[in-house]
Amino acid sequence: MILAAMCIMLGIDSGFAQSGSSFDASPLVNPGDHVTYGSYIIYKIGDGVYKINDPGVTTGKGGAWGVDMYLICGENKALMIDLGNNYIEGYEKDLIAPRKNAANELCEVIYGLTGELPLEIAITHAHPDHDGMTAAFVNRNVDFWIGKGEDIAALKTQHHIDSSVFMVFTPGEKIFDLGGERIVETFLVRGHSNGGTVYLLKNDKLLFTGDALGSGFGQSFRSVDRLRLVAEDAQKLVDYIKASYAPYDRYTLRVYTGHTWQNVYGGFLYPEKEKVDVGYLDWRFIQDVASCANGIFKGNWLVESSGLSHIGKMAYTDCWPGAAGQAIMVYGIGTIIVPLNVAYEAAGLKMPE
Ligand SMILES: [Zn+2]
Repeated sequence: MILAAMCIMLGIDSGFAQSGSSFDASPLVNPGDHVTYGSYIIYKIGDGVYKINDPGVTTGKGGAWGVDMYLICGENKALMIDLGNNYIEGYEKDLIAPRKNAANELCEVIYGLTGELPLEIAITHAHPDHDGMTAAFVNRNVDFWIGKGEDIAALKTQHHIDSSVFMVFTPGEKIFDLGGERIVETFLVRGHSNGGTVYLLKNDKLLFTGDALGSGFGQSFRSVDRLRLVAEDAQKLVDYIKASYAPYDRYTLRVYTGHTWQNVYGGFLYPEKEKVDVGYLDWRFIQDVASCANGIFKGNWLVESSGLSHIGKMAYTDCWPGAAGQAIMVYGIGTIIVPLNVAYEAAGLKMPE
C-alpha cells in the first residue's frame, strides 16, 4: 500500500500535474479499481502496478481491437511495459486514425501515476500495436528498451521513429531493479517475433507476456521454425517458473497479456463459444500453451487420449484477418493457430490428401 500511495502522492505534486494535467489517479485505491481518461481505461492491478487499457474499436483491424500497456512503480523508478497503438500519427494498415492530443493524454496518465520517479520503457516486441506511442516519450529523458533479436528498424517503417532511441538488451540477462524489492526479470519467448520478451515481477507474482503466447484465443505460427521456437521457449518458461516458485506460490501467478479482451474466450475463438468471466490468465495458461505447441510436434492431435485437439479452422475476422483458414489446436486453455500442413510437417507426418 505504501508504494501505491507514494506513486499517487508524487503524481499530485509532480511538475507535470502543474502543467494542467487533469488525470486524477485517486480513485485507484484497491486492485481492480479503474478510471477512464480520454482513450484509456486505467486499472490498478497491484500495489503500484497498473494496466493501461486501450479498449479499441471493432471498426479497425488487428491491434485496433484493443491493446494493453502496463506500469510498475518501484521506490526508485518506474517501468512501463509496451506502448500500445499509435494514435499520434495513426496506423493505416490497422485502419487507425490519429487522435487529437494523443501524446499528451497518455503522458498525463503515465506521469500522473509515476510522479517524479524516473521512467524506463521496455517493449515486449516491435509490432505496431505495442510500440505505437513511442513518440510521446521521446525527449522526455526516458530510457527505451527492446529485446535483442527484435526488428529494431520496424520503429522507423511503422511509426517514422529513429530506432536509435531504443537500447537493446538481452532477454534473460537484463533485470530491471525498480527499488523497494521490485525486481523485474526478463525472459525470451520467440516465435511470434524474434526477440519477444516476457517480464516477470517476481515478488508480486505478476507475469507480462505481450503476444508471445497469445492472449487467450491463440497465437498463430506459420512455419515449423516459428512453432519450434515457441515450443522450446515456452517450455523453458514453464521450467523456469517451476524452479523459481514453490508450488503454492506459482498457482497464484497472474498473467497479463497484450490483448486482455481476448482472455474471455478462454482457449479459442469460436463464434458460439461462451465467454468466461476473467480479467487475467494464470499459470495453467502458460503450461497449456507450452503443451499445445509441443504436442503438435508429437502429432498428438491425432491421438484422442493426449488432450490435444484439432477443433476446426479459423473463420475470417477483422480482429485477426491473417489467421483465416488455419487450424485451431487446443490443449486446455492453450491454443495454437497453425496451417494444418505445418502441423503435419512439424510432426514428421504426411498430410492426408
Ligand atoms: Zn499485439
